[in-house]
Amino acid sequence: MVRGERRKLAVCTACGSSRVVLIQLDGDLHPMNRDGTCECGSDKFELVSWEDVERPVEEE
Ligand SMILES: [Zn+2]
Repeated sequence: MVRGERRKLAVCTACGSSRVVLIQLDGDLHPMNRDGTCECGSDKFELVSWEDVERPVEEE
């Protein structure tokens, strides 16, 4: 993990699927996949919890 980034669990506000996101230094939520969007195409995510996620879920 890049120093300064935190790994959290968030849900897509469009389709509700949960995924692990990185919170970047500027506060943006950034999904841990290639293009930075959900499978449904949305890039809006809402944090589920402020607890750090210990390990990646299904993303590569
Ligand atoms: Zn989605």
